Amino acid sequence: MTAYPIPENHGHWWLTTRRSWSHLHAVPGGNLTPDDLHDSIDWADPLERQTACGPVLDLTYAGIGSRFSMPRCAHCCRTLGIPAGRGTPVNEAAEKRLAEEKTHAR
Ligand SMILES: [Zn+2]
Repeated sequence: MTAYPIPENHGHWWLTTRRSWSHLHAVPGGNLTPDDLHDSIDWADPLERQTACGPVLDLTYAGIGSRFSMPRCAHCCRTLGIPAGRGTPVNEAAEKRLAEEKTHAR
């Protein structure tokens, strides 16, 4: 699922740190353009951006497995007022929608 700043991702990019690849941090949608992201990937150049939890970090777009399973930064989640969890928030939005569809189908 995407880490782009769509409404289901609460308008934030969900990126991991180039150094540790341990958590997904939220970056406000307006602080990064898709062109910035593509340039960063093409040139293997880190994205230096301020995260919702505060620090300015060297970030990168996580691979698809990480976008599904990497834990979200609890501090970023607290700042956004969303539950901590794994993967980008859009995954949970999709799962919730599927569960609701199954409930209504019965
Ligand atoms: Zn964070």
